[in-house]
Formats: sequence, C-alpha cells, structure tokens
Amino acid sequence: MGKATGFLEYTRVETTAKESLERIKDFNEFHTPLSEEQRREQAARCMDCGVPFCQNGKMLCGMISGCPLNNLIPEWNDLLYHGQKEQALSRLLMTNNFPEFTSRVCPALCEKACTCGLDGTPVTVRENERSIIEFGFESGLMEPQIPKVRSGKKVAVIGSGPSGLAAADTLNKRGHSVTVYERSDRVGGLLMYGIPNMKLEKHIIQRRTDLMAAEGVKFVTNANVGADVSADDILKDFDAVILACGSSNPRDIKAEGRDAKGIYFAVDFLKSTTKSLLDSDLTDGKFISAKDKNVVIIGGGDTGNDCVGTSVRHGCKSVTQLEMMPKLPDERADSNPWPQWPRVCKTDYGQEEAIAVFGRDPRIYTTTVKEFIKDEKGNLTAIKTVKLEFVTDEKSGRKVPREIEGSEELLPCELCLIAAGFLGCQSYVADAFGAELDQRTNVKTETGSHATNIPKVFAAGDMHIGQSLVVRAIREGRDAAAEADRYLMGYTNL
Ligand SMILES: Cc1cc2nc3c(=O)[nH]c(=O)nc-3n(C[C@H](O)[C@H](O)[C@H](O)COP(=O)(O)OP(=O)(O)OC[C@H]3O[C@@H](n4cnc5c(N)ncnc54)[C@H](O)[C@@H]3O)c2cc1C
Ligand code: SF4
Repeated sequence: MGKATGFLEYTRVETTAKESLERIKDFNEFHTPLSEEQRREQAARCMDCGVPFCQNGKMLCGMISGCPLNNLIPEWNDLLYHGQKEQALSRLLMTNNFPEFTSRVCPALCEKACTCGLDGTPVTVRENERSIIEFGFESGLMEPQIPKVRSGKKVAVIGSGPSGLAAADTLNKRGHSVTVYERSDRVGGLLMYGIPNMKLEKHIIQRRTDLMAAEGVKFVTNANVGADVSADDILKDFDAVILACGSSNPRDIKAEGRDAKGIYFAVDFLKSTTKSLLDSDLTDGKFISAKDKNVVIIGGGDTGNDCVGTSVRHGCKSVTQLEMMPKLPDERADSNPWPQWPRVCKTDYGQEEAIAVFGRDPRIYTTTVKEFIKDEKGNLTAIKTVKLEFVTDEKSGRKVPREIEGSEELLPCELCLIAAGFLGCQSYVADAFGAELDQRTNVKTETGSHATNIPKVFAAGDMHIGQSLVVRAIREGRDAAAEADRYLMGYTNL
C-alpha cells in the first residue's frame, strides 16, 4: 500500500465536466483530466484493504459486484501513487485488453464495491485506469506487439464489438491468424454505433484497431456473414470461429398507431447521428434529426439517457423519458447493502443537460404508452400515456403493472425513440452456422463454456449472455479466446 493514511488525508476528487449548456454545443467528450499530483493523491486513497471486493467480479443477489475483468486494482493504484506508471500499465494490460474503452464507458462496478465506499466515498478507480492507459498511448508505450511465432491456425471472429475485438486481440497475441468480419462500414460494434461520441470519441476506437491491424489482425468490413458472406466458406477456411454478433433485436412497443411516421428504435437514431458526424460533421443531413421536435423516449435506462443527450444536442423543442418502473431511492435501501450493485436513482449526463436546458428532469416514472396519435398523413403528433400501479399477481405472487383507469394524458410528440431493451440476437447468423439458440434467443452453450453445439464454433458477448456491458463483453471475448485456443492447441495458457 502506497500511503497508509491516504484515504484519511485526501477526499475523492473527480475530473471536472464542462457545464451542461456549454458541452451541448458539440458532440465531444467533456471531462478535463486531473493534474499528475492530484491523480497520485487519488491513487493514494486506495487503502489496500486486504480483501479487495473491487476486483472480485462475482454475482451477488443477481447483480455483479466488482470488476468482471478482475482488474488488479489495488496493485496499479499503488504503482500509480509511487509514480511507476509503466509498471501500472503492464499490470492493467494483464487483465484488460481495452482500458481506454472501459475507463470511459464502464459504470465502474469496482467503485460500487470499493471498501472506501462502505463508509465514505470510493476510490476513483475508473479515472485512475484512464490516466494509466492514456499515459501508455501518450508516452509511446502502446507499440504493436507482433507475435514472434505463428501457430499456423486460422480463426474467424464474426462481429467487431468489444467481445469480438477482445477475442481477436487475445488470439492474435497468442500467435493465431485472426480475421474479423464486420457487417457495418466501421469496426467497433456498439462502441462505434451505439455509445455516443460524447462518451467515447471514435478516434479512440480507431487508435486501437490500427494497433491491432499493425499486430496482424485482419478486418473485413461491410461483410454480413450469413447473408453476403457464406458461413460454409468460413467453416471451410478457418480452424475455429467465434460468433460475437451482439444482441441487436430491439424490444418493440405494441400499441395502437405504432405504424405512425416518426417512431424509431434508439440505436438507429444514435447510429445515424454518429455516422453522419464521422462522415461529414453532420453536414450530409443523413441522420434522424430531433431539431425543433417534441421528443418522447420510451425507456428510462442508459440508452434512453444517450438519446436525451443526443436530442438536446440536435436542438429538440422538448424531451421526455417514460419509465414504467417507480423512481429508485436516492440512497441504498437496507435490503441492498454494500458491496452489492447499488439500486439507486442516478442522474446521468443527458438528463443533467435536459434539466439545464428545459428546467425539469425529463423522466416520468410509472408511465407507459397507450397509443401513438397520428395525423391524416400518418405522421406522429402525440403520445397518449397512462399511469401504472404495481399489484401482486395471485398466481405468481409477483408484482405486475396495471394501468390506472382515467390517468391518460396526451404528450405532443413528433419524434418517438424506443429504448426498451433487447431480445436476444438476430438468429440468421447462428442459423447459418447451425448453432442452437436458447429460450432467450442467445447462442446456447453449457454453463461456463463458450462452445456451441457445432464443433469449432464458439460464442461470446451479448450474443451469448444477452445485452450487458462493455466490460462483460471483453471478459466474454477473453474467455471464448481461451476456450478456442485450448480446442486448437490441446492446452491453453490464456
Ligand atoms: C445505446 C447503447 C449504449 C450503451 N452504453 C453502454 C455504456 O455506456 N457502457 C457499457 O458498459 N455498456 C453500454 N452498452 C452495452 C454495450 O455496448 C454492449 O453490452 C456491448 O457493446 C456488447 O458487445 P458485443 O461485442 O457482444 O456486441 P456488439 O457491440 O453489439 O457488437 C456486435 C457486432 O457484430 C456485428 N454483426 C452482427 N451480425 C453480423 C454478421 N452477420 N456479420 C458480421 N458482423 C455482424 C454488428 O454489426 C456489431 O458491430 C450500451 C448499449 C447500447 C445499445
Ligand atoms: S473495467 Fe470497469 S469495473 Fe473494471 S476496474 Fe475498470 S471501471 Fe472498474
């Protein structure tokens, strides 16, 4: 432990975010890094508590507690405090292929389980992680690591999201020859075309994939495997295949008037903005615009928040986020103690911005859509909402939502974005390889394994576990890579 009294001497200091009204003028990241001295103080707050729950990554009451990658957090905090940043980088890269992604977009499960947070504020683990990896890139330490020996084995990775990239990176460094096939025009999956630029600027993904390409990974974009690229050819040409195509079937809202013009799925909306931003700095006009529109987002989660932030940047007239569930408490409930994931209400960046612009929180709780109202041309003009109450279902004993009669209201709306979650993978890819799906339409494997029912075909990421987090996708990619390596070589050290 670097400084025995660090956690007593220094308070938690986070990077400063630009003011909401200032940052909505562009789509850039908006946090200013701390000084070197301040960062060392933050690392010094890690008390090396002996039982580091932060790096545990285990399920507790159905939710993960601690880092799913088992990042060696107390070790690199100590090294960071002592100014041994090169060693800190080396420890960080042992467990995490892409700290530059997680340190920007991860909800920091580590911090929710940090012992300092039990009776105070947790260590700034995520920001410490970011300072280490950015030091690595800035100081030229992130040079291509080209394997000295090649195994002669060829692996195809289908899908270039964080799970596919992590599998590709791990297998390539092991010496296998890896080709990544991506349906889209750019590599990165939801890192590229889901998570908005203000959370993760896209040159950060390019910087990593350039490095991977220099290390020998081949990327083939605009390659829709199972449609334009034959799965049989891939099975013939490669010694192993990893399916990492994500969980991209959006949950729809079935209400009268659903065919109205002006209703889109959240990811289509977010993708169109990012693509236009990258292609033309939004000058090509090829994006779903929220400008001067009343926007209603169905879904109070993180994707809904990204839609709020994006709509505000477009210059929307108003923005409302509908959430079926009641508002969560501001503090942990007694039934949800540390180090469990805290089920508390957080106000995210998009919601903060909407409050700054419109003077009110965009979220309305225990409310859903009853009807989409359209004009004679079929254009969406309003949404009829209804309030919900939760009652106990006699058969299951579970709380279920019930509409409250007479609570209907009309919200003016010309753009509705559905951010209501995802229902498993698109089955055509799995079908093309003959891989079985489970009841939740994820690719089926034995518990704890990534091997599908088809020899040499493995599954990873959201396509395997359902919609999750970037950090879990990286874990999945690493674990699938280890299993594929064992299959190819008869043993693995990964
Ligand atoms: C809007 C949004 C915001 C999010 N924000 C966060 C966040 O802030 N933090 C966080 O931790 N998580 C976030 N998530 C979740 C996170 O992005 C995902 O859990 C993660 O990206 C899953 O990684 P993956 O590699 O399994 O799949 P994906 O990232 O979905 O990548 C799958 C890739 O496979 C490609 N593909 C699909 N079919 C084919 C085919 N037939 N041939 C070739 N390629 C194919 C797709 O084009 C895609 O590029 C967010 C999700 C969404 C939707
Ligand atoms: S990957 Fe996420 S959970 Fe793990 S150390 Fe980084 S911020 Fe924490």
